[in-house]
Amino acid sequence: MAAPLELFPRARVSPEGFAQERVDHFTGRRLRIGRSGIVHEVTWRPWLGELILPVPACHQGWSGFAASGDLIATDDPATCRKCARRAAQLPLAEPVAQAALFELEHSPNPPSQECPNQRQ
Ligand SMILES: [Zn+2]
Repeated sequence: MAAPLELFPRARVSPEGFAQERVDHFTGRRLRIGRSGIVHEVTWRPWLGELILPVPACHQGWSGFAASGDLIATDDPATCRKCARRAAQLPLAEPVAQAALFELEHSPNPPSQECPNQRQ
């Protein structure tokens, strides 16, 4: 049986080689997501079988899977507050009482429940 024709040549990437390149590139470093100025700590996520890929430690989402240059390694200090909290193992901020958008007036005569269309 003949091999199917490829209309558009595709780059063949070895998953093991790709994952190892990511490990070598991100180990001991931090990362940025795309053009964002926020620097995240790095943690590792399972990918295929035993392979792992770097992701932001704070679980910040992004589109892609570190395969198209969407994660950029950096040696800059981390600026992500969620990553800093995670690294320090501090609890997340206590919930803050929600402020009222506006104060309600408590009138002694509540508005009528009568439909204005039925008044005569
Ligand atoms: Zn982060």
